[in-house]
Amino acid sequence: MTVHSPSPDILSALEAAVGRNGLVADPAGMAKYLGDWAGDYRGGALAVLRPGSVGEVQALMRLCNELGLGVIPQGGNTGLVSGAIDSSGAGLVVVSLERLNSIRRIDAGNFTLQADAGCVLQAIKDASEARDCLFPLALGAQGSCQIGGNAASNAGGVNVLRYGMARDLILGLEVVLADGELWNGFSGLRKNNSGYDLKQLFIGSEGTLGIITGVEVKLFPKPAQIETAYLGLPSFETAIQLFNWARRACSDLISAFEIIGAECIELARLIDPNMPGPVEAPVHVLMELSSGPGIDLNALLAGFLAEAMKAGLVSDAVLASSNAQARAFWTIREGLVEGQAKRGYHVRTDLSVRISDIPALIEHARDLVATEHPGWIPLAYGHAGDGNIHFNVLPPLELGESEARALGVEVTAGLYQIAVGLGGSISAEHGIGRSRRREFWAGLSPTHRRMTMALKAALDPKGLMNPGCLLPSTETSS
Ligand SMILES: Cc1cc2nc3c(=O)[nH]c(=O)nc-3n(C[C@H](O)[C@H](O)[C@H](O)COP(=O)(O)OP(=O)(O)OC[C@H]3O[C@@H](n4cnc5c(N)ncnc54)[C@H](O)[C@@H]3O)c2cc1C
Repeated sequence: MTVHSPSPDILSALEAAVGRNGLVADPAGMAKYLGDWAGDYRGGALAVLRPGSVGEVQALMRLCNELGLGVIPQGGNTGLVSGAIDSSGAGLVVVSLERLNSIRRIDAGNFTLQADAGCVLQAIKDASEARDCLFPLALGAQGSCQIGGNAASNAGGVNVLRYGMARDLILGLEVVLADGELWNGFSGLRKNNSGYDLKQLFIGSEGTLGIITGVEVKLFPKPAQIETAYLGLPSFETAIQLFNWARRACSDLISAFEIIGAECIELARLIDPNMPGPVEAPVHVLMELSSGPGIDLNALLAGFLAEAMKAGLVSDAVLASSNAQARAFWTIREGLVEGQAKRGYHVRTDLSVRISDIPALIEHARDLVATEHPGWIPLAYGHAGDGNIHFNVLPPLELGESEARALGVEVTAGLYQIAVGLGGSISAEHGIGRSRRREFWAGLSPTHRRMTMALKAALDPKGLMNPGCLLPSTETSS
């Protein structure tokens, strides 16, 4: 990685914009902002800027616009597609939102919360809960990712089937544009049918259109009861049958339906060797119902599971008898993700297909690995209720990392082909970033490309916002 040495003039101008506390320019200080969570990418930067106010974000954007300096917005840096890391070595600045981390206002009567973009997701969930409300965005990285990063990447997670993605949960945004101008898109209104819904342009834009500095989200009543079950099933087909039946039979009260191929449990045990395996079956399902008071949720779930066992869809079921047991079930789901990172480089995908096509996706993907990449270990798990499967593949341990990475490109291409062949997407929830840009762009129609580039040119005419992420430099390049 090339380390760029900025001129003292540039550094002092940047320091004037964000103050002494806001500038990090020494390699040791910058290191944590220049490597990703999974250890897959390392980047470079002229400097890392940590503005402490919206005014400082504006000042630095004005300066970068004047100097023609490219800017990479960064939240909690938990993204998995190299959106907040520039590994090309170009001379850009990273703008971390971590110092903009206050909750601005909770209006429990309106079920809304406004926060700085750098607020960690868990802090928003905790503050909502303290007011007897729920902010339902939930993902493994919630202790580190920021609400601005969630908005910029349109995060999904485990409760999408009930509450939708970040896009569905955000009511308003505050954004500093590429030239430093501030757009305040807060209204607190659930219905506001006047003109273009501009916030939606920035949601999922991965830092390519502006810097999100504030987010207003929808809250929900905190569920009075949650029931969690860990199930064993004979196959992925039965898991999908079970899901369809459960939605109707459980009054659409399902808040999570996670599917886990049994082979993933070994990965969770890399994090905790004593991790309990609640069931023995080829496919595991972690299912959660939640509701307000007034219905017997436990009886609803227990009755449904008894019927499902009688029908042969479920071979084994453990209903959590305490919060601690429910938490232990979730630890398995979270541990398997961390376990993969601990094992080292692996092919990671984030595919989505129609829910009914999940079994075909997994079957074709397993066939591909078995026939063309023998010795590689396929893992299938994901948010099945959203048609979202993370089909990941571990290289044989004896393969060197560089060889594994080179072959991994082929494995990934084969998996993408299968998903696209089924009418699916190569990015269900993680975004495009730098790691999926070519495949994303190659799959767009000329009309889609033209509209995308027109939006980019209108909001970021100099191309300074997160260059290299999501979009190529011109409509016809890759
Ligand atoms: C263990 C683990 C589990 C995960 N589980 C899920 C999951 O279930 N569902 C899911 O969707 N994702 C998941 N992720 C991916 C990741 O956590 C999410 O994409 C998250 O929303 C990223 O937020 P962040 O603050 O870390 O953003 P970053 O990684 O810092 O940035 C992500 C993108 O957003 C841009 N960006 C960040 N902040 C801003 C801002 N304020 N203004 C403009 N642009 C900005 C960046 O430039 C980059 O392109 C997981 C990651 C890990 C490590």
